[in-house]
Amino acid sequence: MKVILASNNRHKLEEIKKILSPMGYEVVSQADAGCNIDVEETGTTFEENASLKARAVYEMTKTAVISDDSGLEVDYLNGAPGVFSHRYAGENATDADRCAKLLSELSGVSGDRRTARFVCVLCFIDENGKGTVIRGTCEGIIGTEPRGENGFGYDPVFMYGDRSFAEISAEEKNSVSHRADALRKFSETIREMKG
Ligand code: IMP
Repeated sequence: MKVILASNNRHKLEEIKKILSPMGYEVVSQADAGCNIDVEETGTTFEENASLKARAVYEMTKTAVISDDSGLEVDYLNGAPGVFSHRYAGENATDADRCAKLLSELSGVSGDRRTARFVCVLCFIDENGKGTVIRGTCEGIIGTEPRGENGFGYDPVFMYGDRSFAEISAEEKNSVSHRADALRKFSETIREMKG
């Protein structure tokens, strides 16, 4: 089945492709589907933003769509940066800027109070317009310095056991991440929907 990913984030595309391809889905990017829109993320929850993005692309294409709204929740910061993960250090900031800002907010905070989780909310809209929203999570600890070269976003500061998400391989990240958790639940939901 062909599914358009309602995103222009190539990292998300690669991760979602790697996980969904073996399940029989052909994932194409929004740009490759000829859909050039940039949806404003005006929601206050991951669920709202994922739905906004998927619905906008579905209305343009009338094809099955999947969207991913994701981010990092840090308990010491009462869930921030959360839905603002991408904009946390300003509009034109880099991944390194975002990680640096997070580390400075947690400066001096002890290890047991650095708990965090990645959240991924997927919104799937089938070819008939029926929507399903699914949440996946992955628990970890915010490290004290960026570590590793893999992945993207906050991966270098997200410690999964004794390695950061940027130190583990793409295969390992794709088997334990918030996105993997959500995609696993997604494929179960699709199987149930098909009966
Ligand atoms: P959005 O879903 O496009 O609003 O942006 C989500 C932001 O959360 C990304 O720009 C990253 O900064 C962060 N993020 C989401 N998923 C991951 C991940 O798997 N690793 C690291 N950072 C992530």
